[in-house]
Amino acid sequence: MIAHADLQGDSYQLSKSAAEREACEAIVFCGVHFMAETADILVNRPEKVAAQVSAAARAAGRVTVVLPDMAAGCSMADMAAIEQVEDAWADLGSVIDTSDITPVTYINSAASLKAFCGRHGGIVCTSSNARAVLDWAFAKTKRVLFFPDQHLGRNTARKMGIPLDEMCVWSPHEPRLGGNDARQIEKSRVILWQGHCSVHAMFRPEHVDAVRANLPGVKVLVHPECPMEVVDKADLAGSTSFIIKQVEAAPPGTTWAIGTELHLVKRLEQQHPEQTIRFLSPVVCMCATMYRIDLAHLCWSLEHVEAGNPVNVIRVDDETAKWAVTALERMLAVSETAPR
Ligand code: SF4
Repeated sequence: MIAHADLQGDSYQLSKSAAEREACEAIVFCGVHFMAETADILVNRPEKVAAQVSAAARAAGRVTVVLPDMAAGCSMADMAAIEQVEDAWADLGSVIDTSDITPVTYINSAASLKAFCGRHGGIVCTSSNARAVLDWAFAKTKRVLFFPDQHLGRNTARKMGIPLDEMCVWSPHEPRLGGNDARQIEKSRVILWQGHCSVHAMFRPEHVDAVRANLPGVKVLVHPECPMEVVDKADLAGSTSFIIKQVEAAPPGTTWAIGTELHLVKRLEQQHPEQTIRFLSPVVCMCATMYRIDLAHLCWSLEHVEAGNPVNVIRVDDETAKWAVTALERMLAVSETAPR
């Protein structure tokens, strides 16, 4: 698939790069649903459409965004529905002042959640800028509601020195206060939504112990969507682009065990034969939904775009897009001023 792509990158980089193309009639987004939504939101901002030189996009009033397979969802994004988040917000309001909470959504979430953050003074984050985003949030409010990935929220807050007893986990399936009592909520600076990536949650601390026992000198490099116990045992933790940069910068002969999506690790292994690169887990952890985007679906969707009859078009409604852009632009402003 990558051999056929015009642009490569993580989810946010891809949406941003796509929005910067001024001669674009359509985007076929080879990722999962929330990524295509983000591309649609960013590329179809009124000022971006006005700057388009593509006659077809100008005539249609927007760039068409296509997801080759509508079944390519994200299990993490699906763990927080907008109705659940709105219920949680109302429930929190019964014990604490919600004007003192900043809602923060990981970019791996539905457009409706980004819009919720936009409406409530909140913000979007990626795994690269989560720390800067939380610093921004704590500069204006006492607490943060972080969704949908509890692990990224916990790992980032821990790194900032926030103790675990000032965090609580909010289960959307509990009838009252996400399964907490009022005292726990009052004490918490970070309220973590009980969601996770089903791929990264499979890495276990014992996998780190096993590679250390079997690969002398190994460096363990993991994504912060992994559970805290794994991140604590790793040598390095960071976003997808951080992982790639670490490997690119390492001297020949470096031995890595990497805890992130299998296909990325396999690609790094092929691109860096001068290093020894192993997958951290003994079991296969791959994103089955992302894997649905294959050559057949790409070809099928491109043929329909070419015939002027696009299929699987992703279109975020204008009101949701407007508020989601507000939250995304706050993130952009934070990222631009954050130390690198
Ligand atoms: S790897 Fe995890 S977070 Fe990424 S798309 Fe798949 S399920 Fe979602």
